[in-house]
Amino acid sequence: MFSYRHAFHAGNHADVLKHTVLVAVLQHLIQKDAALTVLDTHAGAGLYRLDGDYAHASGEAAEGFLRLAQASALAPALQEYVDLVRSFNASAASTKIYPGSPFIAQRLLRAHDRLKLFELHPTDHRLLAGNVAQLEAGRQVAILLEDGFEGLKKFLPPPARRALVLCDPSYEIKSDYGRVVDMVDDALRRFATGTYAVWYPIIARQEAHDLPRRLKQLATKAGKGWLHATLTVKSSKITPLSEKRPGLPASGMFLINPPYTLHGALKEALPQMQQLLAQDRHAAHSLEAAG
Ligand code: SAM
Repeated sequence: MFSYRHAFHAGNHADVLKHTVLVAVLQHLIQKDAALTVLDTHAGAGLYRLDGDYAHASGEAAEGFLRLAQASALAPALQEYVDLVRSFNASAASTKIYPGSPFIAQRLLRAHDRLKLFELHPTDHRLLAGNVAQLEAGRQVAILLEDGFEGLKKFLPPPARRALVLCDPSYEIKSDYGRVVDMVDDALRRFATGTYAVWYPIIARQEAHDLPRRLKQLATKAGKGWLHATLTVKSSKITPLSEKRPGLPASGMFLINPPYTLHGALKEALPQMQQLLAQDRHAAHSLEAAG
C-alpha cells in the first residue's frame, strides 16, 4: 500500500500553487448558472490540522501557506485563496485547519453542483468520509474508494456538460506519470470541453520532466488551449550542509481549457508567490499559455 500521506505536506508551497489555481478556476466556472461537476481524482483526507503531529513533524505549512497568511497587499488571486482557507478557522490570527482540494471545492460549489472524490488509501478515505459527513452535503458529494485514474471514465461526460477535473496524484509510483497522460487523453476523447488541471512535482526524474511536454502535445492535438504555471522555491541541489530532509523544490500546474481569466490572475500572483515563498536565491516562476 502507499506510504504517502498528504497530512505531512498540507499547506506547503505546492498546495499554495495548486489551491490558488483551484480557487481561481472555480470562481470563474461558477459564474455560469448551469450545474458544474468537479472530479477530484486524488482527494486526500479533505481537512488537515496544522497544529497536529503530522504537520508539526514536517513544518511545511510554515514555509507555505503561513507565510502568505502573514503578508499584506496580496494579489487578488492569492487574497481569495488566503480568505477561503481562513474561513475554515475560528480566528483569522491563527490557522489551525487547512482545507484540502475537496473542501476548497465544496466551499465554492452551489447546491446544484456535484463533487466526486476518489481516494484509494483506506485511512485517508475513512478520514475524508468522516470529514465530509460533517458537511451534511447530501447528494452533492460522492466519495469513492476507487482508483481515480480509472474511476473518472464513468463520469464523463457529466450531465450538464460542464466539469473541472483535478488530478493530483502523489507520484509515489513512477507509472503515475504515464497514467496521468493516458487519463487526460481518454478524458479529452470522452469530454473535449472539460477543464483539466494536473499538478506535478518538478524533480530530477525523466518522467516528471516529460509530463508537461506530453500534456502540451495532447492539448495541441485536440486543438485545445492550455496553461502551464510553475513555482520553484529553492535549488534542487542537495548540499552536505542542507537539511536532513531536502523536500520538494518546485512544482507545476498544467491546465487544458483553462478559464480565459486565469492567465491574468496568475501573472499577478506568481511573482508574489515566488517572493513570499522563496527559500533561497534560486526561487523562480514561469507562466506560459496557448490557445
Ligand atoms: N488533492 C489533495 C489536496 O489538494 O488536498 C491531495 C491529494 S494527495 C497529493 C494524493 C492522494 O491520492 C493521496 O491521499 C493518496 O492516498 C491518493 N491516491 C494515490 N493513488 C491513488 C489512486 N490511484 N486513486 C485515488 N487516490 C489515490
